[in-house]
Formats: sequence, structure tokens, C-alpha cells
Amino acid sequence: MSIGILPRRLLGGLLALGMLAPSCALAASVDNLRLWAAPDHARLVFDLSASAEAEVFSLDDPRRLVIDLADTRLKADVDRLKLEGSAIREVRTGVRNGDDLRVVLELNREIEPRDFSLTPNEQYGHRLVVDLEYPGESAVEDPIDPIEAMIRDQEIAADRAQAKAQVQGQDPAEVTPTREPAQPHPRRDIIIAVDAGHGGEDPGALGPSGVREKDVVLEMAQRLARKVDATEGFKAVMIRDDDYYVGLRQRTRIARDQKADFFVSIHADAFRSPRPHGSSVFALSQSGATSETAQWLAASENRADLIGGVDGSLSLDDKDEVLRGVLLDLTMTATLNDSLTIGGQVLDRMGRVNDLHKPRVEQAGFVVLKSPDIPSLLVETGFISNPDEERRLQSSSYQDRMMSAVFGGIRAHFQRNPPPASLLAWQRDQGRDTGGDGYRIQPGDTLSEIAARHGVPVAQLRAANELNGDVIRVGQVLKIPHS
Ligand SMILES: [Zn+2]
Repeated sequence: MSIGILPRRLLGGLLALGMLAPSCALAASVDNLRLWAAPDHARLVFDLSASAEAEVFSLDDPRRLVIDLADTRLKADVDRLKLEGSAIREVRTGVRNGDDLRVVLELNREIEPRDFSLTPNEQYGHRLVVDLEYPGESAVEDPIDPIEAMIRDQEIAADRAQAKAQVQGQDPAEVTPTREPAQPHPRRDIIIAVDAGHGGEDPGALGPSGVREKDVVLEMAQRLARKVDATEGFKAVMIRDDDYYVGLRQRTRIARDQKADFFVSIHADAFRSPRPHGSSVFALSQSGATSETAQWLAASENRADLIGGVDGSLSLDDKDEVLRGVLLDLTMTATLNDSLTIGGQVLDRMGRVNDLHKPRVEQAGFVVLKSPDIPSLLVETGFISNPDEERRLQSSSYQDRMMSAVFGGIRAHFQRNPPPASLLAWQRDQGRDTGGDGYRIQPGDTLSEIAARHGVPVAQLRAANELNGDVIRVGQVLKIPHS
């Protein structure tokens, strides 16, 4: 019997008795709870059968976070949540006011809560997302040394000043002082940001036997990071080092915060049919994808943020200004040229490990590649939708050879073009024969003195040595141009 055919009087009576409260039809249930622990936050997701009104607030002594869900029943088993590594010590639940659900998180540290609701998408239904953010924590496990970060900041500022001078048609030598005495060589590490695609509530692509992209790419990213760290003059920064989601814009922001010289995002392709196979390398395209597959892929990789939450729709903050500026084109072009060169080196080596899906570096509009000042590549290590490659992607020898190929390409590029303050640049200069037209910088030297001593204009000396800005370093070898 449906309500529609109940006699009016009877319906009224039932409502009055509270047997057919109008809210009954709207009641939601918590069908599942999912928790991910990142170094700087934990994310708790309530999978709901319908949308529910939520109120989230903190209490002190002891520290707790209370989540009240109106007219909601609990169907999930909270004891199955794995709390290790998160700020949550214990989860308690109770019923309030007859129909409301109260979830209390006992906390073991200070947090800043943030919550939002998500409507159903391809993968999930209604969700309430509660993020516990840890004030003052870094988003990465092992942030780079603050002194290295400072040196990188100086280099970046010098690059910008020079680019700006070029745009304005000025002699860069006049923009920056030349009387700064030579600084001790920092011999800094080259920072490689290693990004494992997807993570947490975003599994990425799924293989025919159920292998998840987020798992195999994390294994590969960890291998790559170990190779980078084991190489003198290089240091890896992992964008995510466990099973949690990081927003696409947040990924490039972490790379920038960590002063990365290079950003590489590791993925495994999927297509609608099982046949496509092979590995590919992508750089950013500024105007549309180079192939239809590339377009399709970019759309599906970028879709991750719709699964992962709201982060992806947040606008760029600090970079907005730069993005608008005249510098962008210049930086972007230089960055993209580097990306394509490194991509070619990587692709060559990958071709020795697996078939290539396309013989050249493809270009597509991936959000994670949109750092204006960090050369970036996205590597598709194979097609997880192809049964053979799904198997290979799980094999440790395949993973290892694939990551050696990726790092081999990156390393070859930086050995040829080391950033001036890097250990690699210093090593190159130590091995360099100063010969007849070279000069090794001594403590106390300044650029203008060296120029005067050799009878060369500063601008010419600068150009011959591709010097960015004003910083010269002890031990650096300068080419002396013949004027
Ligand atoms: Zn992916």
C-alpha cells in the first residue's frame, strides 16, 4: 500500500502519531567510512545513501572532533577503520535526538578541521568529506634543507630578473649589480619531484584483473625516488608517499615549495579496449593535444580531481600574478623546451624496456604539467588495461628497469646542463681545463673586476658564460671572450 491511496483522514492520523514522520523518506545511512593519512592531513570520507545535513565542531580537554549528521543511521563498521598514522586515536558513535548520528573522533594532536559535501559521480555516491589538517606540517615526508631552498630562491629570482630585462630590452648586466664578491659554491643537490599519480579515494585506472593504477605507480615512484637519492648531487621529493589523494594543483605547489628542478608524474594508461599497449611520455601542450588519445587521456587524468575532492577547482594563488605577466611566455617556452628535451632522453631509454605507444614525446593539457617554471613530464609506464602489461606493471624487474630509464633520461640532461649552484656544475668546473681563455674564480673576486682585468665588457663576459643575475661562485670557471 502506498501513501497515495491512504484515506486522507488515516494519513493525518498516522502523521500525528509520529508513525509516518515526513523526514523518514529522507533519512540517510552511512554505508561506509574511508580514511587516508597524509603527512599534513588526514581525510575521512563518509559514504552516504543520501545527502545529509552535517555539523562539524571541535572540543577540547580531551581533544575531539564531533561530526553530527541529522537524520542518519550508521551501517558501517567503525572498528574496521585503520587509524595508524592519522590524528585519530579512537572513533566513538552514538544516536542523538532519536534519529541523529553523532561521530566523535578522539584526537592525538592539534588539527584544523575542514568539511564539505560531494554529490555522486562515476565512482561514488553522496559523500561527506572531513579533512583534519595539521597546522605547521609539511605536505612531504622529507622536505628539502632550508638553506638549499634559499639558494634556489636566489637562482629563481636571478632568472626572473634576467628574463624581465630581456623582455624590456635592457642589458641584464645593468639590471643586477656586478660588484658582489664571489660566493662559496653551494654545491646544492638537484631536486627531482616524484609524483605518483592518483591515490586515496582516486584509484586511477583499473586493470582487467583488478590491479589499481594508484598502487603500481606508487611502487614505481618509490623506486625512482630511491634511485635519485642514491645518486650523488640529486635528491628526490615524493609528492605523495602513501595511499592518499593530493589535488592536482597541490602537486605542482608542493614541487614549487620544495624548489624542485624537475617534476615527473608516474602513471599507467587505460583505454576502453584491451588492445592498446606501450609506454609514452607527455609534456605540456599550450594549444591542444597532439593526438586524439592524448586528448582523451588528459581528460581522464584531469578528471581525478572530481573524484578526489574540491582542491582541483581552487585557483592558483601565489602564481596568479606571474601567470598574468609578460614573463610567462618566456618562462613557459624555456621550461617546455627543457621538458621536451628531457622527455626525448627518457623516451629513448624507455623504448629499450617496453614497446613505445608513440615514437615521440606527446603533448597534452595535463594539469600536473602546468608549472610555468619547472620542467615537467608525465610518464605513462604502460597500459594497465592490456592484460600483458597489467602483469608487467606489477613485476619488480619491469618497474625497476622502467624507473632506471626515466631517471637515466633526467640525469643525462642535468649532467649536460647542470644548474649553476649545483654540485654537478661545480664538479664539471673542477674537471675543466681553464686553458688559455678560461679563468677560475677566486675568493673575493667580483664580476666587474674580472671583466676589467681581462679588458672585456661585463655584458659580454656574462653572455659568454650564460650567467644569470649577479651571483658568481668560487671555483666556477669563466670563459673569457676575445673582444
Ligand atoms: Zn593516471
